[in-house]
Amino acid sequence: MDGDWFDPEAVAAERLDADQEMGELEAAGRHAARRLTRARVLFEAGRLMEAAQTCPHGWRQGLPGEKSRCLDCGSLLGWSGKVLAPCEMPTARSWGAR
Ligand SMILES: [Zn+2]
Repeated sequence: MDGDWFDPEAVAAERLDADQEMGELEAAGRHAARRLTRARVLFEAGRLMEAAQTCPHGWRQGLPGEKSRCLDCGSLLGWSGKVLAPCEMPTARSWGAR
């Protein structure tokens, strides 16, 4: 779910990372952490939709097949991951209250 927010250089860098002898899980973890950090920066800049589309939505709360809430960015998501309402409750797990 990168939407129209896309960074070719970051993608190239991640391919290089993937070629190294890192475990795939570790690489995925670093990828998610990087996206989460970026999403938070976008959120703090007031770019809510971009933040919501950048967040990996690693922790979601909701019933299977229904809408869910990302516990990181607070966005309301469709079950497929589509952003229905960006960053409505940004008090979430990782971002915290400032
Ligand atoms: Zn999220």
